[in-house]
This record gives sequence, C-alpha cells and structure tokens, in this order.
Amino acid sequence: MNIRRNIIVFCVLWTILISSSLVWMTHNSRAEQQRIALLTSRALFKQIVVARRWNSSHGGVYTPVTENNQPNPYLEDLARDLRIGENLVLTKINPAFMTRQISEIALLEDGVQFHITSLNPIRPENLATAAEKQFLVNFEKGIKEDYAFMQENGQQVFHYMAPLITEKSCLKCHEKQGYREGDIRGGISVKLPFSVQVPLVSMTIWHALIWAIGLVGVNFLGLKLDRSYNVIKSQAVMDALTGIPNRRSFSERILEEFIISRKNDAELSVIMCDIDKFKKYNDRYGHVEGDACLRKVAQCIQDSLKRPIDFCARYGGEEFVVVLPNSSLKGAMTVAERIRENVENMKIEHCESKTGGIVTISLGLATSKIVSANSYEQLISSADQALYLAKKRGRNKVHQFAAGDEKAV
Ligand code: GH3
Ligand code: MG
Ligand code: MG
Repeated sequence: MNIRRNIIVFCVLWTILISSSLVWMTHNSRAEQQRIALLTSRALFKQIVVARRWNSSHGGVYTPVTENNQPNPYLEDLARDLRIGENLVLTKINPAFMTRQISEIALLEDGVQFHITSLNPIRPENLATAAEKQFLVNFEKGIKEDYAFMQENGQQVFHYMAPLITEKSCLKCHEKQGYREGDIRGGISVKLPFSVQVPLVSMTIWHALIWAIGLVGVNFLGLKLDRSYNVIKSQAVMDALTGIPNRRSFSERILEEFIISRKNDAELSVIMCDIDKFKKYNDRYGHVEGDACLRKVAQCIQDSLKRPIDFCARYGGEEFVVVLPNSSLKGAMTVAERIRENVENMKIEHCESKTGGIVTISLGLATSKIVSANSYEQLISSADQALYLAKKRGRNKVHQFAAGDEKAV
C-alpha cells in the first residue's frame, strides 16, 4: 500500500474537483443572473403589451395637451385633437405614442429603455437598430424572443426583444402598411442596465479555503496513517525484542534467495546460530538480563555482515539464522567464523558456561551446492544438523555441513 502516492493522487483529484466547482459555480451564477434579467425583461415587455392592448381596445385614449404632451405628428386621425371649451384641448394617445411616453418615464426613473421598433416604421425614429434588426430577422425565422448582454456607453445592458404581433385593434392604423392580423409588425425591445455581478472574489476565497482545508487535512491524516502503517509494517517483519528481522521475514527472504540462486546456478549459504547454555544464563542472571544478552548477540551478528545482500533474522528463542546469497563455502565459513569471534569478543559474562565463562555461540553452516538442496527447508535442516554437531563437538564452534553428517546426527 503506497499511502504517499495515494495522497498525491487525492490532492490532484481534490484540486480538479475544487477548480471544477469554482468554474461550475461561476457559470451557474452567470446563468442565474441572465435568467433573472430575462424574467425581468419579459415581465416588463408583457406589461407594455397589456397596456398597449388596453389603449388600442379603446381606439386610443385622449389626454390634455400640455407642454410635455404635445399632439403626436405621426398619428393620422381626423379626431386626433379635440378642443373642449376655452382652456382644454385633448389629444389622442395611440399605443405607439403611449409606449414612447412610458419609455421616457422608465428611462428617467430606472434607466430602463423601451423601444418600439419595426423594419418599416411610421415614425422614422422607430427604425430598428442593427441589433434589433438581427432580432427581427430571428423572429421571422420563428424565434419567440431574443436577448443578449451588450455594452452601451461603457455600461453593460441586457437587451431583450420580443415581437409585436398585429392584433385586430392594431389594423386601424397599420392596415395601410399592408399588415394583417397575426403578422409580426415589429417588436419592443427592453434594455436593462444589468452588469453581471458574479461574486468571483468571495467564491474564489471560499473555494481556496475549502481546497486548503482538504489538502491540509488529507496530508495530515494521510501522513499519520502512513507513519502508523510503516510502524505496523515494520512490526510485522521485525523481531520486537532484538530489533532484527523476524522468522516471518526470514521465510520470505530465504524463499526468494533460493529461487534466485537456482535460477542463476549460484551458491546459497545458511548459518544457524545458537547461544551456548543460554538456559543456564537465564537461570543465573534472570530473564531481563537474558533478554539484554539476546539483543547484544543479535546486534553483533547483524554487525558482522558486511555485504548489503547478507541477511540475518531471529529464528526463535536464542537461535539466529544468517542467509548469505551468492557466497562460496569458503566465504560463508569466513563470515561464520567472524560472527563466532565477534560474539566471543564481546566477553559477556556467563560463569555457568563451559566456554571460558563468557557468552558464546555455536554455528552450523550449510551451502546449497554441497547439500544439493531441492528446497530451502532442506538447506535449513542441513544447517541445523551442522549446528547440532557444532554443539556436540564442544560449542563455541562453527561446523560446516558435509556429506555423511546426517548419519552423525
Ligand atoms: P545449548 O547450548 O545446548 O543450546 O543449551 P541451551 O541452554 O542454550 O539450550 P536450551 O534449548 O536448553 O535452552 C534455550 C533457552 O533459551 C531456554 C529459554 O529460557 C531461553 N530463551 C528462549 N527465548 C528467550 C527469550 O526470548 N528471552 C530469554 N531471556 N530467554 C530465552
Ligand atoms: Mg536452542
Ligand atoms: Mg542454546
């Protein structure tokens, strides 16, 4: 399990996820603002259409002529102006004129612009602008409404337009232009001052915060997990008392090395080591001292190995095993003798021993070529037999397995 690699993968995925979320939310925010602008414009347009319908259903409405309400020069109607008494002249307001007047009020109060427009207007000012012309062309293709954000006088505006359908009441004025009921006569465009205000800064800060919390959290927990995992992993392969590899890692390693040595037709040597008269050591000095002695001997064996490929493990109790891959019998013998000497040279007091009053070890050596081992178990067994003979021949000795040893054992 490679936790660090998984942490990196998570960090990359987390970064992609958070950035995608930011992009998605920005996009959604823009879309939502456009939707609000659209709904607002649509409602305003509807409002105007309803007001126009009301006006045209009355055939226009009369209002007093004032300074700001002069008769409409484009309205061809014999009854356009009516004088009522001395001081009151009424003039007819048709839907187009009403729209224009409402538009002026809306522009002054809210900056909202209405523009009644046509490709063929009665009033020249109502001629469609370039954008409106494009909208009108689209309406001819069957599009029911059209809109776009655009810049106008350095300000962003939402430009909406929907077609004006000729109704029966409209024909009174527009029939002469050739329109029939149901024809698209033009449109009313609505312009809202509307800048898209996406809260990009706050959204980015929040996303960055969540991103950082995620990264810190995962790295913190992940590294903690990694450390715990490594501790457990090393506990699984290391011997708790002596700190050198345990029997389990020895079993894995010897199998690997045995396969390699057979493949390469190379020598593989195994040395079994056993502390001499260790039971007596425990009896004399106690188990705590016995444990300390085991640690020292284990460390001494490990320190006696010079090549990185050589390997030692606690085999069990006061027994240790050394694996020497690719090593001749002579070389293995040298290592075994070195280990024996090094333990002896520590001069750990053992007054009950028959080997000079110090802790010593006996070693049994077996080499694959000599044993003609078909399995690593056979190699271990031969080393064990050699160890037995080393003990038998006086302890504090190295015995190398030779043909006929089986019988001697
Ligand atoms: P020999 O020279 O024939 O090997 O004699 P010996 O006493 O070493 O052999 P024996 O197998 O009779 O005793 C091994 C002793 O090792 C028995 C046990 O008390 C001791 N021993 C095994 N494991 C541990 C351990 O983890 N800690 C301690 N302190 N002693 C241990
Ligand atoms: Mg033993
Ligand atoms: Mg022993």
